[in-house]
Amino acid sequence: MTAADTTTGNAGLAIEQALIFEQNTDSATGVDLAPVPHTRRKLGALERKAPIGLPGMAEPEVVRHYTRLSQKNYSIDTGFYPLGSCTMKHNPRLNEKMARLPGFAEIHPFQPVATVQGALEVTDQLAKWLTALTGMAGVAMSPAAGAHGELCGLLCIRSAHEAKGQGHRRIVLVPESAHGTNPATATLAGYQVESIPATASGHVDFAALKARLRNDVAAVMITNPNTCGLFETECIEIAAAVHAAGAYFYMDGANFNALVGRVRIADLGVDAMHINLHKTFSQPHGGGGPGAGPTVLSAALADFAPVPFVVANAGAYGVAEHVGRDAGKAAFGRMKGFQGQFGVYVRSLSYILALGIDGLRQASGDAVLNANYLRAKLSAELTPAFPGLCMHEVVFDDTWLKGTGVATLDIAKALIDEGFHPMTMYFPLVVHGALLMEPTETESKATLDQFAAALLALARRAKRGDQAEWFKAAPRLAPRRRLDETKAARKPVLRWRPVESHAGGNGGTARQAAE
Ligand SMILES: *Cc1c(COP(=O)(O)O)cnc(C)c1O
Repeated sequence: MTAADTTTGNAGLAIEQALIFEQNTDSATGVDLAPVPHTRRKLGALERKAPIGLPGMAEPEVVRHYTRLSQKNYSIDTGFYPLGSCTMKHNPRLNEKMARLPGFAEIHPFQPVATVQGALEVTDQLAKWLTALTGMAGVAMSPAAGAHGELCGLLCIRSAHEAKGQGHRRIVLVPESAHGTNPATATLAGYQVESIPATASGHVDFAALKARLRNDVAAVMITNPNTCGLFETECIEIAAAVHAAGAYFYMDGANFNALVGRVRIADLGVDAMHINLHKTFSQPHGGGGPGAGPTVLSAALADFAPVPFVVANAGAYGVAEHVGRDAGKAAFGRMKGFQGQFGVYVRSLSYILALGIDGLRQASGDAVLNANYLRAKLSAELTPAFPGLCMHEVVFDDTWLKGTGVATLDIAKALIDEGFHPMTMYFPLVVHGALLMEPTETESKATLDQFAAALLALARRAKRGDQAEWFKAAPRLAPRRRLDETKAARKPVLRWRPVESHAGGNGGTARQAAE
């Protein structure tokens, strides 16, 4: 029984919800205003005659519409979210409480600095924690996301090269397994990207990297732990080779969740690394909400950090806003209006202070333990892509599906029917039919056992050999079934438009006309 079998299209008490524009309610309104007497209209010919085309609804209908939509939103608060590469973990409510303190929530970036000393202290304290946890010389706090932090790091690197007369270096080397943001950022920063292959064991091919290190290379970007969930054990040797070639070493720190309290990033020879506060230091994310990507910098790059930054002088906090006046001349400029994602800073500092250094160290240990627990359990039926222990995430290939007629995508869709958000699929690209899972430290053994049991049962079902059709029909119980994902990616419809004949009017069913 699915929604397709009911007369209403609703399923149980889950209600099929049309777009607000499709509900033909543009004559209704949520407020009753008395007619205004004795008005003289002054707009003349400019007065709008046709309806404006905005939906109108009474207040209870508005409330229902948006509440129903919100209930369609799967989230970390409703269930396990094993997406690899995303660090979808529980967000302690204490962080939210702190972020909502009126002294934090109600300040404005144009307030005089004398009135926001506490907020500047929060920013400064968090900056100190990030440099202490990484051992790095400085940090640029303002980048608004991981990718933005990558851009900040590369712009520091570009400025440093230009300052040394090395502006001719145009190449950034990025491993095949890198997150898509790495090559995208390098391109945006004006560099040409060249790819470095991975070894069969899932690591960067150091020999191939070394062979490519010539004097046209500006930087090497390496993710550690990498996107295969493996620690790059040759990181220190890689950094030394990169430096010997006159280039800088960028480390993608989105996976810092596996290292906090255990690895001093500076000891790896890193020059720049962004930290996804919204992954490692807990934040509601995944719906495109605000994140933050502070970039920690080595002594060689710290002077090039962008404005603004907080300066502490004689017990008071100030803000260095202007390159060459209150910030050093080397600062490359500005990444963002104002200070950065302040609400994210408050949540991250709250998280860090609640856990303390011992708690942070335990969190990274538990994250790695949970991934290896899943790895061990699932290996009963699935095939891990790489031998040995993993870090905070585990990747399986699709060898175990060979000959079953079932693909990675079908397994992910069948998991939806079982009540689990799918893992990351077909990424990293270097693993055939990849299933990448990051359970994080905040999932209990009971949750991991339930997830593993569901996935193992599906695996056995797939291997029975005559179940491919059953898998192809999944998900059966979701409000939408298989979508045309290729078309959605290649021909996205970014703006809803009513069909011409209904424009601005009532009646008839307005359908998506844009194509
Ligand atoms: C998430 C992630 C990024 C990008 O971070 P955003 O905050 O989404 O911009 C970059 N690299 C890796 C490895 C990631 O997991």
